[in-house]
Amino acid sequence: MKNIVPLLISVLIVESCHSRSNFNNHTTSVFPKGEKVTNNNFTGIVWLQMLGQDDKLLNTGVGNVTFEPGARTKWHLHPAGQIILVTDGIGYYQEKGQPKKILRKGDVIKCPPNVEHWHGASEDSYFVQVAVTDNDKGSVVWLQPVTEEEYHKE
Ligand code: MN
Repeated sequence: MKNIVPLLISVLIVESCHSRSNFNNHTTSVFPKGEKVTNNNFTGIVWLQMLGQDDKLLNTGVGNVTFEPGARTKWHLHPAGQIILVTDGIGYYQEKGQPKKILRKGDVIKCPPNVEHWHGASEDSYFVQVAVTDNDKGSVVWLQPVTEEEYHKE
């Protein structure tokens, strides 16, 4: 019986660390954070969870994307456009030649077909978005990285 109490305490500590690490792996967003992106289409640390991939109803990619502070896409375009639903954090969206927009939870961006743009987190906050992309006219076309100067410009 004497040995049970320390054992229980150890179990509780291990359990609490486990829950905490699970918590850190998620934001307060609705969908899972997914896996760290390892391709070079982004600057900084980005996580991706594709949603509904087994559903062949639509030729539409739905991705939950989590950008760590300062992380962003390269400049790119979508042949059939994209809708961005902001679910958490503070981020940026910019179309070529336009001022940068600040995005917050609940914002919806409609990115027109073939318009060069980028999106990502602000300097000090995570940014979580669900990107809905129609792939009927081809998938995303990746361009050059967003420079530090472009990223920080108001
Ligand atoms: Mn986009």
